[in-house]
Amino acid sequence: MENILDEVCQNLVRRGFKARVVADGDEAMLAAAGIIGKGSVGIGGSLTVKECGLAEELKARGNKVFWHWLDGPEARRAALSADFYVCSANALTADGVIALTDGSGNRVAALSFGPRNAILIIGKNKIVADEREAVMRIRSAECAGANAKRLGLHTPCADLGRCDDCASPDRICSVTAFFERPAKGLENTYVLLVDRNMGL
Ligand code: SF4
Repeated sequence: MENILDEVCQNLVRRGFKARVVADGDEAMLAAAGIIGKGSVGIGGSLTVKECGLAEELKARGNKVFWHWLDGPEARRAALSADFYVCSANALTADGVIALTDGSGNRVAALSFGPRNAILIIGKNKIVADEREAVMRIRSAECAGANAKRLGLHTPCADLGRCDDCASPDRICSVTAFFERPAKGLENTYVLLVDRNMGL
C-alpha cells in the first residue's frame, strides 16, 4: 500500500496540491496543527477530523475554531472566512482527483473560495481507481448509507443498502465536485494522505 500511497501523493503534487503521506491520525493532527500555526480554522463535517482530535488540540492551544459539530450551525458560515479550512474527501482517485459530495455544499464551497487555505486529511480507504468508482463509493451503503444512518436519516442507501438516486427529503447528496487542481480562489490546498483507514 505504501507504494500506492506514494504514487497517489506524487499525482496530487503534480496537480498542484501540497501533498504528503503521514503514518496515522496522530501524525496528521500534528502536521495540520503545524501548518495552521496561529491561524483561525473552519472545519467541515468530518469523522476523519474528529478521529484526529484536531479541533480539541487547536482550541486548547488558543486557535479560533469554527466547527458546526461543536459550535452550532452558525459556525458553518464563519468557517468560510477562516485562515484555514479542514475537512476530508469522500474519494480520491489514483491519479490525484479529489471528490466530495455535500448536502449543503459547505465543503465544496470552502474548497473553492472563501477560506485562505485548505487542508484535506484523507485516509487510504478513500482511494479509488477513477471518477466513476469515486461516485460508486460515495453513493454506496458503506459511505452515503452509513452517513445517513449515523444522522438518523431514512434514505434508500441507509434503509435498503443501495442508491436509488432518491428524491427523499433526507437525501444527503446534493452537489458533487471533482477537484482536478487546487481552486485558484485559495492560496494553498494541502493534502495529508494517511496510511490508515479513516472516516467513511
Ligand atoms: S441519492 Fe439518496 S439513496 Fe443515493 S446515496 Fe444519496 S441519499 Fe443515498
